Amino acid sequence: MGLAIMTEKQIHKKVVILGSGPAGLTAALYTGRADLEPLVIDGPQPGGQLTITTEVENYPGFAGGIMGPILMDEFREQALRFGTEIINIWIDRVDLTRRPFTLYGKESEDSGEISTVIKADTLIVSTGASAKWLGIPGEAPIPEGLGGNGVSACATCDGFFFRNKPIVVVGGGDTAMEEALFLTKFASKVTLIHRRHEFRASMIMQDRVLAHDKIEILWNTEVREINGSKETGVESIRIFNNETNEETVLPTQGVFIAIGHRPNTDLFKGVLDMDDVGYLITEGKSMKTNIEGVFACGDAQDSYYRQAVTAAGTGCMAAIDAERFLAEQGHETATSAVKV
Ligand code: NAP
Repeated sequence: MGLAIMTEKQIHKKVVILGSGPAGLTAALYTGRADLEPLVIDGPQPGGQLTITTEVENYPGFAGGIMGPILMDEFREQALRFGTEIINIWIDRVDLTRRPFTLYGKESEDSGEISTVIKADTLIVSTGASAKWLGIPGEAPIPEGLGGNGVSACATCDGFFFRNKPIVVVGGGDTAMEEALFLTKFASKVTLIHRRHEFRASMIMQDRVLAHDKIEILWNTEVREINGSKETGVESIRIFNNETNEETVLPTQGVFIAIGHRPNTDLFKGVLDMDDVGYLITEGKSMKTNIEGVFACGDAQDSYYRQAVTAAGTGCMAAIDAERFLAEQGHETATSAVKV
C-alpha cells in the first residue's frame, strides 16, 4: 500500500451536502434533524455569498436587518446543533455512476493528491454561484492583470482600500446598487456604469442609488479596458458610449464588477442535466436531478429567484427529498423529524 493511500481518509455518509450557503446548511439542518448525520463540504467560500455581503434586509425574521456573515454563522451553528459534520476540502471529481456515489477530495484546488474519498448514499448539490467577470483587458487577477490590485467583485472585502479615492461600479442589478451604496462610505466618488438606460435592480435599491449625492451614473456605457500597472494599481478605464459611439478614458482608482453570477456546476458537466448557462435542472416540483439519489438546490439550481430565502427553501426541499429517497431504499430515517 503506497503512502498516498495510507494517508487517505475514507468517509461513508448517508447524506453528503456539497456547499455551505443558505441552501446547503438548511439541507443539513433538516437531514440532521432526521438523524441522518449529514456531512457538509465547504466550498472555497464557506457560508456562500452572504459572507461577502453587508446588511441583509430581506431575510424574514430579522426586522432590523442582519449582517450577512452573522446570519451565516447562525445557519452553521443551527446545523451543527443537530449532528452535522462540516469539513473543508476541495472536491476534484465525482463518480455518480453507481451508489454509493464517490467524491474525491483534495486539501485545496492546487494540491495534487486526493486526501479524502467520500462515499455518499445521497448527494445534495448546493454549490451556489460565483461572480461573473467582463472578460476585458486588465481585469484578470495579478500578475496578468489588475485583479486584486484595484479590480474587485466584492465591495465588502475590498472597499476599505479605497478611502477617499474615486471608484467605479459596473452593473445594473441589485448587486451593483448594493455595492455602489456600500462603497460611498469609503470612496470620494462612485461612478456607476451600466450598459443600458434602465436598471434591472429592485425599485427600493434604485431609488437609494439615484438619490445619493456621491453616486454618478453613466448610462449606455460599456467598459472596454482597465489600465494601470503593478506599481500604481488601477489608473483609468476606457469606456464606450453605445448611444453616441464615443470612446473616452475615465480616470479611476478602483473598479468593482457587479454584473451577476454564474452557477458553480462545472464539476457536474456531462453528468447532471443543466441548462445552457449551467443551472442544474430538477424534476417538476422536486429537487431531484436526472440521477436518482442526487438532489440540487439553491443558486446552483435556481436561475430565477436567486434569493437567500429561496435558497434556504429549496435546501429544505432537497433534504426532504433525500430523506424520502433513503426511506424508499430501506435506510432507517426519522421521517417525523423533517415534518416539524
Ligand atoms: P442580475 O440581476 O443578473 O444583474 C446583473 C446586471 O449586470 C444587469 O444589470 C446586467 O445588465 C449587467 N450585466 C450582465 N452582464 C454584463 C456584461 N457582460 N457587461 C455589462 N453589464 C452586464 O445580477 P445581480 O445584481 O447579481 O442579482 C442577482 C439576484 O440576486 C437578483 O435576483 C437580485 O434581486 C438578487 N440580489 C438581491 C439583493 C437584495 O435584495 N439586497 C442584493 C443582491 C442581489 P442588463 O440589465 O443590461 O442585463
